[in-house]
Amino acid sequence: MTSALRSLNTLGLIGGMSWESSLVYYQKLNQGVRQRLGGLYSAPLLLASLEFAQIAELQHQGNWGQLERLLIEAGQGLQGAGASALMIATNTMHKLYEPVAAAVDLPVLHIAEATGQALVAAGCRRPLLLATAFTMEQDFYKSYLQERFDLEVRVPQADDRAEVHRVIYEELCQGQVLADSKARYQAIVAKDSSADAIIFGCTEVDLLVSPSDFDRPCFDTTQLHVEAGLAAILGTD
Ligand code: GLU
Repeated sequence: MTSALRSLNTLGLIGGMSWESSLVYYQKLNQGVRQRLGGLYSAPLLLASLEFAQIAELQHQGNWGQLERLLIEAGQGLQGAGASALMIATNTMHKLYEPVAAAVDLPVLHIAEATGQALVAAGCRRPLLLATAFTMEQDFYKSYLQERFDLEVRVPQADDRAEVHRVIYEELCQGQVLADSKARYQAIVAKDSSADAIIFGCTEVDLLVSPSDFDRPCFDTTQLHVEAGLAAILGTD
C-alpha cells in the first residue's frame, strides 16, 4: 500500500427523498471517485436519510415550515459530523435551499446551478422540465434557471404534469419502473416540439427514462449534481 494517499473532502447528503435516488447518488459518487483516482479510492460521504412517507405527506399538506425544520436539523447534523460541503439530493426540496444554506456554515451545492451550467454550455435555451408538480408549478426552480441562466423553462400541460407527478410518487419512489409510464413520458415530451432540451428535473426520473429515449439533448439532474459533488470531494470546484 502506498503511504502517499490523497486526502479527500467529506460530502454530506440530505437524502432519502426518495432512497431510490439516494442509492443512485451513493453509487455514482463512489464510481466517480474510482474513475478519477483509481484503485481503492472511494467517496467520503455522510448521509442523512430522511423518512420519505413523512416528507411526502408534509409536502402534499403544504407544511413547508416543518419540512424546513427537518432539513435544517439534517444539514446541521451533517456539518457537526464533519461534512465540508452539503447537497440536498432532490430537486423538489430545493424549495428550501435558502433557509438550509443560511442555517449551516458550509457550501450547499444547488442542483439547478449544475443543471443551468450544463444547459448553457450545450447551447440549449428552451428546456422542458419533467419534475414533481411542486418543481414544475411553483417558482423556486424555474426562476433560478430563468434568472441566473436566461433559460425559457417550459412545463407540460396540466393533465400531463399531474401524470408526471403521479408516476414519481406512486411508482418511481416506490421502486416500480413500468414500461407504460416510460411511453407516457415520451408522449408528453413529443407534444412540445419547440423545446430544445429535456430536464430530468426529479432525481428519480433517470430510473425510468434515459437520454436515448428522446430526440433532444437530456439533462439528468442526478448526474449533474453528482458531478458537482465530485468536484467538492476532490477539491477541484
Ligand atoms: N426526488 C424527487 C425530486 O428530485 C422528488 C421527491 C421529493 O419530493 O423530494 O424532486
